[in-house]
Amino acid sequence: MEKQEIVNLYGKKIVVSIKINDISSRRISIVGGHIYMTLREPYSIKDIEKTLMSVLTEKKVSTLYSTPYYTDYYVDILGIRRRLVDLSKGQERISKEDFVISNQHELEKKLKNLELDIIKSRVEKYQALMNIPISYQVKITNMRSSVGKNYYKKKLLTFDRILIHFSLDIIDSVVIHELCHYFEQNHSNRFYNILLKYMPKYREVRRKLINGERQ
Ligand SMILES: [Zn+2]
Repeated sequence: MEKQEIVNLYGKKIVVSIKINDISSRRISIVGGHIYMTLREPYSIKDIEKTLMSVLTEKKVSTLYSTPYYTDYYVDILGIRRRLVDLSKGQERISKEDFVISNQHELEKKLKNLELDIIKSRVEKYQALMNIPISYQVKITNMRSSVGKNYYKKKLLTFDRILIHFSLDIIDSVVIHELCHYFEQNHSNRFYNILLKYMPKYREVRRKLINGERQ
C-alpha cells in the first residue's frame, strides 16, 4: 500500500510517497526528484519531517526543486511536486495527489488548461481589487523572453506556460505586475509604487521565480 503526504521541510512543502511495510525498517530513496519513504504504522507527519531532515540537508531539499518542472515521474503544479501517472504506460493512480494523464501528449494540454483557469480567476480577483474596468482576453503561450505581457491596446494579457509550476503567490506577482501596466506602461518608480501597494513582498516573491524556486 502506498500513499502520499505533504510535509514541510525547511519551509518548503514537499510531497512524499509513503509505503507501509511491517517488515523492513524505514528507508528513504529519491527517484527522479521525488522522495519515497518506507515506514511502519503508525507514523505522524512530524515523524516523517524529522526523519527526512536528519538525512536531507536544506541544500539537498532545494536542489530537488532545481530539477525540471516535469519528468516521466513527476510534475510540479502550483509549487508542489506531484507524481505523474500515465495510464497509457499501465501506471495506476494510488493517491488523490497524483496527476493523471491518458498519455504523455495530454500533459502539456492539461497543464495549459489548468493554468488558464487559475490565471483567469486571479486576473478577475485583482482587477476587482485594483478597480480596473477592462474585459481582458487572457492567453497562455510560450513566451521565453518574459513571463507576462500586457498588450494595452488589444486588451490582451499573455502569460508564460511555466507559471503553472509555481506557487500561487508567485503567479499572483506576475498577474499583479501585468495589471499594473493598466496604470503605467513602463517600469518607473510610479509603476513600482502601485505594484508594491498590492504586493508588498513583490521583490522577494519575484526572486523565487527568477531562481526557479517553485514556492
Ligand atoms: Zn512589466
